[in-house]
Amino acid sequence: MKIVVVGGGAAGLGAAGAAQGANPTAEIVVYTEFADVAYSPCGIPFVHGKEIDSFDKLFLATKEQYVKSGIDVHYETTVEAIDTEAKTLQVQGEGTVSYDRLIIATGWLYADPGVAGTDLDGLYRVKDIRRAMEWDKVLETTKKAVIVESGFIAMEMTTALRHRDIDVTLVDPGPWPMSDVADPEIVEPVRQSWEDLNVDMQWGNKVTAFKGSGSGSLTHVETDQGDVQADLAIIGTHKVPNNPLAKAAGIKLGSTGGIIVDSHMRTSANDVFAAGDCTEIPHGVSNVPLQGLSGSHAYAQGKTAGVNAGGGQRGYNPVYVPWGMLAGEWMLGGVSFGETTAAALGLDFVTGTANGITRARYYPGTKTITVKLLAEPTSRRLIGAQMVGGEGIKERADFLGMMTRTGITVDEIATMENVYSPAIGALNEPIAVAAQNLVSKL
Ligand SMILES: Cc1cc2nc3c(=O)[nH]c(=O)nc-3n(C[C@H](O)[C@H](O)[C@H](O)COP(=O)(O)OP(=O)(O)OC[C@H]3O[C@@H](n4cnc5c(N)ncnc54)[C@H](O)[C@@H]3O)c2cc1C
Repeated sequence: MKIVVVGGGAAGLGAAGAAQGANPTAEIVVYTEFADVAYSPCGIPFVHGKEIDSFDKLFLATKEQYVKSGIDVHYETTVEAIDTEAKTLQVQGEGTVSYDRLIIATGWLYADPGVAGTDLDGLYRVKDIRRAMEWDKVLETTKKAVIVESGFIAMEMTTALRHRDIDVTLVDPGPWPMSDVADPEIVEPVRQSWEDLNVDMQWGNKVTAFKGSGSGSLTHVETDQGDVQADLAIIGTHKVPNNPLAKAAGIKLGSTGGIIVDSHMRTSANDVFAAGDCTEIPHGVSNVPLQGLSGSHAYAQGKTAGVNAGGGQRGYNPVYVPWGMLAGEWMLGGVSFGETTAAALGLDFVTGTANGITRARYYPGTKTITVKLLAEPTSRRLIGAQMVGGEGIKERADFLGMMTRTGITVDEIATMENVYSPAIGALNEPIAVAAQNLVSKL
């Protein structure tokens, strides 16, 4: 049995390891266009921001460890075509390569800003760690940067560049930060903290061109509201699935451009699986297909695809998308969607909000936290949540994600038991108070 994985990111590596676990005698081959695997791209903005002192710390395993484990990784090697009938690949420098089972994990790209000048020097798409190491040196001399749209990674980069004392202008067509994900009042403290960090925020504005000098380096960014001088532009547009390979092979893509997979990560082609950001996955509440989820989703999907490609049986459920991040001086997070997205989807919902604290009010270092819950009024089930606070967002997002998945009602959440211990939690759990407020409204 030869299992080939195209992609060395979270999904591809998760798939390779799981395939080997499910089928220890199988030959496992991984192709990646990058020079490395097994590093955490998620840490890159924090190295740029100097919270982490070295890119080396982001590596999770060495190349030798992969050689020893028996997973054959081909670095800087592009898979150029897939023939699903012949069960072969065309591989750069290797020619025709056969497979018994194939896992496509080709990931994502930043959406093309769709304006002139994207080929200039000075446009940084934060992704590959080798490029990040080179860009980090450029940041030493960068004076002025433009962040193009407030996607997750761009939000982290905004703070990182301010920590490096680089002037930052954030240009986003939305009315507030991350307006396609976060509700305005939830993200307002983040906006405020960027104001405190002297970020020039231009909401409702759009980049119309990147302009450069004769040598081809970026000098300024043209926008609807005028020119912004800049020697660096961070492209923070939304993620799009990287699927030219699958598309050319005739594998079915969905409305988002992601590969359609079944509950076992099987694609429309026989013996071909897919995982990670190149796929689309139905949302558990709305049933709307989603693409561009997180690294933790990619890894879990990769493991599912790997187990199944190896001959095992594992299912992957629709997603409820717990999320969280550091933004400005705050932590933001949630589950499913907030009020803005739920309204855009035409869902019927009622909200309940609580402003609380993360430890006992008298305990040093206690932080504020806002929890907003959304429930479907007929079933009274929790369908979404949004939060902003000084700490404790990740655990609450994971917990609320599981609650949404199990279909629990807000009545049950309103009477939940909670931990009270002055140094780690207040008497009144903000999740319970938000649910009580929601129940009163219902
Ligand atoms: C800066 C940054 C911060 C992030 N922060 C977080 C975070 O905080 N939390 C979180 O959960 N996730 C985070 N992520 C993860 C990210 O958002 C994605 O969800 C994750 O990278 C998806 O993994 P993937 O394996 O599906 O795709 P990718 O990581 O895009 O990997 C795709 C792989 O496919 C290979 N490939 C593509 N085409 C070919 C081809 N034709 N031939 C050979 N190889 C090919 C590429 O070389 C690459 O190895 C972050 C990512 C970045 C870059």
